[in-house]
Amino acid sequence: MKSQINNETKNLVRGYNLIQRLSTLTEIMLQIDAVEDKSEIYDLIRAETKWLINCEVIAIAILSSLQNSYQIITLSSVADATGLNEIYYSLEEGVVGWVIRNQSSMKCQLDDSPQFSQMLEGRLKDFGIKNILVVPIKSGQHKVGALLFGTIEDEEYTDEDLITAQLYGLQIAVALTNASFVSDAKKRISQIESINEIARILNSTLNIDELLVRTAEAIYKSFNYFDVTIFLLSENKTELILKAHYGNYADFLPKDYKQDINEGIIGWVARHGEYALVNDVSQDPRYKSLEYHTTRSELALPIKLENILVGILNIEEKKLYAFDEMDVIVLQTLCEQIASALKNAKLFEEVKQANKKLKELDTMKSEFLGIVSHDFRSPLSSIILAGKSLLKSEDVQKNEKFKEYLHLIVEQANRLNQLAEDTLSITKIESGQVSLSLKVVNTENLVKEAIAGVRVSNRHKIHYHIEENVSYIKGDPAKLRQVVQNLVSNAVKYSPNGGNVNIEVKEYGSDKVLFSVSDEGIGIKPEHQDKLFLKFSRVDLATSKNIKGTGLGLWICKEIVEAHEGSIWVESEYGKGSTFKFIIKKYED
Ligand code: ADP
Repeated sequence: MKSQINNETKNLVRGYNLIQRLSTLTEIMLQIDAVEDKSEIYDLIRAETKWLINCEVIAIAILSSLQNSYQIITLSSVADATGLNEIYYSLEEGVVGWVIRNQSSMKCQLDDSPQFSQMLEGRLKDFGIKNILVVPIKSGQHKVGALLFGTIEDEEYTDEDLITAQLYGLQIAVALTNASFVSDAKKRISQIESINEIARILNSTLNIDELLVRTAEAIYKSFNYFDVTIFLLSENKTELILKAHYGNYADFLPKDYKQDINEGIIGWVARHGEYALVNDVSQDPRYKSLEYHTTRSELALPIKLENILVGILNIEEKKLYAFDEMDVIVLQTLCEQIASALKNAKLFEEVKQANKKLKELDTMKSEFLGIVSHDFRSPLSSIILAGKSLLKSEDVQKNEKFKEYLHLIVEQANRLNQLAEDTLSITKIESGQVSLSLKVVNTENLVKEAIAGVRVSNRHKIHYHIEENVSYIKGDPAKLRQVVQNLVSNAVKYSPNGGNVNIEVKEYGSDKVLFSVSDEGIGIKPEHQDKLFLKFSRVDLATSKNIKGTGLGLWICKEIVEAHEGSIWVESEYGKGSTFKFIIKKYED
């Protein structure tokens, strides 16, 4: 039944004149124009060509992107049976290769064909094909491939067949080119989306191993490749070390698998610093086949950091001709992103190491300072003691020069002593050694001792007031004395014209105690108040230029108060005076 229909069709087509064929061609092309997808175009050619040209075999040859080979797509049942479908041929091979190379048509008896290839036309002959007609298909300057018709009839194809086939080829070329534009555009859009997604992943971690593994996974999943590997170059630059692997061979290679830089396509890429696009690995001597491999195409790209190779991104596919130049561009962009993420991760690692070293140095410095300042204090105390007792002696009292010099010695030794004490406090605080020894403290004694520790001129008057219900508190007496003493010392220091210094201790809420030390001195501008409690922070003002200090006192106060789970702050009016306040917990049992 089927062959009857075919015969009828053939007779019908043979009887057609060119005009009739053109109208059939127009009808077929209207249908082809309406579809966007390549496979739908092929389906239409398969179904409709019989109304146009007498043939048992119809096949289309598609030129590869590198233009050095072509792939046959068979589009009739006899053609399918020849087993030529999806086979690749070199452009040097067969009548089809000749037609594409020369961009001219050929119609001939199969036996006489000048470029007869056993592998191609030989297969047609096996199926009884006697005559063939091959026309190039191209759209403008863009070569698409060729269209092949074959018939079992003895009669050669006519000139009318030739013209019809050429016109048909022209139209198919346009349709296929449009379809590949559409599918290319779709593919590129999805690739750009994938790149953005991968860029997001690359920026999300600074851990090199995790970064590479997640990138390989994302490339594998979003590009739908068969196998994705990322290698890094070894330190001695002789091996490539597998760092990330996603895909069908992932179970076959161990993590940290090493490949000699002289082996395989990836070795070649590492040595040359250029990408390798291999669309048929069996034809490439660089290819190193592993037992389980079914790879047919491979694309390996260098990952370079400041033009120096650091690794390889390698993609493998089971299809021949799986990659084109556009894939190279897309994956190169990705390699650049991988490189810059690696750079960030490496920098981060370096900074981490440097920080670790700095911390070690800092600890050493603190320990050293602790030892030195501690050892300073005993000789200084002896100097101060000796100086003070000498000052009391009659001989010195009589001699103004002696008195002046001894005052200087005691004063400077006191300053040195304060400095040594501050330094010791810092080193203790920094090394986390501030441990409180909590005791019941008599507040009045604490305040008195603090005042006694400060050298007060007779221009200043110091008053204190302690509320009854806070006569006793719980805290570290030595440290709290140090805080109050610092604040009183500052109150005196920063009120150079003298005035009252008031110390108050009172209840604050139900469970806290408030200490406040106020003066009538130079005051502090609001914009300076926040920074006072930072280490080495001093307000640079004309009014306090001649007042000596280190900027450590308030920082130490803050650390001690906070160790008591309290807080410290200042209230001040510039030019009028300041009140430093701190609260600590009452520590009631
Ligand atoms: P130092 O007094 O050694 O500079 P401090 O940490 O005790 O260090 O004080 C930090 C800065 O705070 C001082 O340099 C000064 O500018 C300011 N300051 C501290 N106390 C007062 C105060 N009572 N009145 C005005 N300014 C003060």
